[in-house]
Amino acid sequence: MTTPQSWDARAKAATFFGFTDLPSINERGTVIITHGEGPYIIDTEGRRYLDANSGLWNIVAGFDHEGLTRAAQEQYARFPGYHAFFGRMSDQAVLLSEKLVEISPFESGKVFYTNSGSEANDTMVKMLWFMHAAEGNPQKRKIITRKNAYHGVTAISASMTGKPYNSVFGLPLDGFVHLSCPHYWREGRDGETEAEFTARMGAELEEVIAREGADTIAGFFAEPIMGAGGVIPPSDGYFDTIIPILRKHGIPVISDEVICGLGRTGEMWGCETYGFTPDVIISSKALTAGFFPMGAIILGPEISDRLQRATDAIEEFPHGFTASGHPVGCAIALKAIEVIEGGLLDNVRRLTPAFEAGLQRLSQMDNIGEWRGKGLMGALEAVKDKATKTPFDGSLSVSERIANTCTDHGLICRPLGQSIVLAPPFIATDAHLEEMFDKLEAALKKVFSEVA
Ligand SMILES: *Cc1c(COP(=O)(O)O)cnc(C)c1O
Repeated sequence: MTTPQSWDARAKAATFFGFTDLPSINERGTVIITHGEGPYIIDTEGRRYLDANSGLWNIVAGFDHEGLTRAAQEQYARFPGYHAFFGRMSDQAVLLSEKLVEISPFESGKVFYTNSGSEANDTMVKMLWFMHAAEGNPQKRKIITRKNAYHGVTAISASMTGKPYNSVFGLPLDGFVHLSCPHYWREGRDGETEAEFTARMGAELEEVIAREGADTIAGFFAEPIMGAGGVIPPSDGYFDTIIPILRKHGIPVISDEVICGLGRTGEMWGCETYGFTPDVIISSKALTAGFFPMGAIILGPEISDRLQRATDAIEEFPHGFTASGHPVGCAIALKAIEVIEGGLLDNVRRLTPAFEAGLQRLSQMDNIGEWRGKGLMGALEAVKDKATKTPFDGSLSVSERIANTCTDHGLICRPLGQSIVLAPPFIATDAHLEEMFDKLEAALKKVFSEVA
């Protein structure tokens, strides 16, 4: 309710909102949160919500994890802040780098820190440009990603993101090439088998490389499962098809594991779920369980050697952020990894069958066209006509209405396109999943009865 002194009025008066639909908050109001308990958030009105999106995929250990809070408090008391320039950095940064290489699929490697996933992708592109130029290939600058991919919002990472909304910024920049989205259910042609679809994705990549010229391409970035694109697992055999093509042309493969990494898909890394080894892993989000802003670039052995040689030649890699490698963030990340390795990853695996069963059950509804997911990330896509996969008219805002109805009943889930996305925290219990599916089912029934 908006009254002049309400939290809602004050939030609206003093906030410039990002990624927020203004007509919705004008009609429904903002949600101003004071604290959390386990997977629940509680707002200024005393309302309690089960957050089935783990914040933005990141608060995987709940909102009041004592071990993480204690790790932060102890590090604040010991050494509250430092940078990682000039060969000076905290002991916590060293410990975290060793740990990240240890849990990575790489035999050896090196880590570079940022404050977000966007900055990590942005930095990685600069690393590739720098490396290729130092190797005598300054023309190797183009970056290949996919339509519907999400890699962030800085000017470079937004250019990598394959979403139409970036046109308001005059993005993408030149030299960012977007392949088709490997979503068989939506993008497959009439009569095309999934194997044929995957082969077509491979053929498209070959054509793009031939058209652009392999000697102009700096690297390929992909999320193992597209997250903000609407939880889109690749078609069967997709990475098995495209990775050899990229290897043949000497194009570095960067796995953007900002969502998939650290357990979300049921393995430590999404690339392990899909059986490929990239050259670089980008991590953020669950890295600190959402308790601190942090991104990490985990360079595999080959790229770290090449970057080291490029840097040795000019004596310095001229790039870094003031707060990256922050000792408190590193201490929290070390604790988060300990907690994930020490039980949360097992819990993701334990919950996955029930999570998939719930998605599958709701996908029986007449107006759900597809369920999809892996581990504890999933989506249900609403359709007007199940047989023809015809979407609802956009003006009906079906997924937004479903999510709003859920919110009214104490469940936070996210509308993305015509899909509802679920990404419960790794600490969830069977009871939390039941509550989530019960509330979602009620909302789906209500909204479909209004629009169908
Ligand atoms: C969220 C996300 C990013 C951007 O991370 P920020 O911390 O929001 O900058 C990049 N890549 C993927 C796959 C993401 O989901």
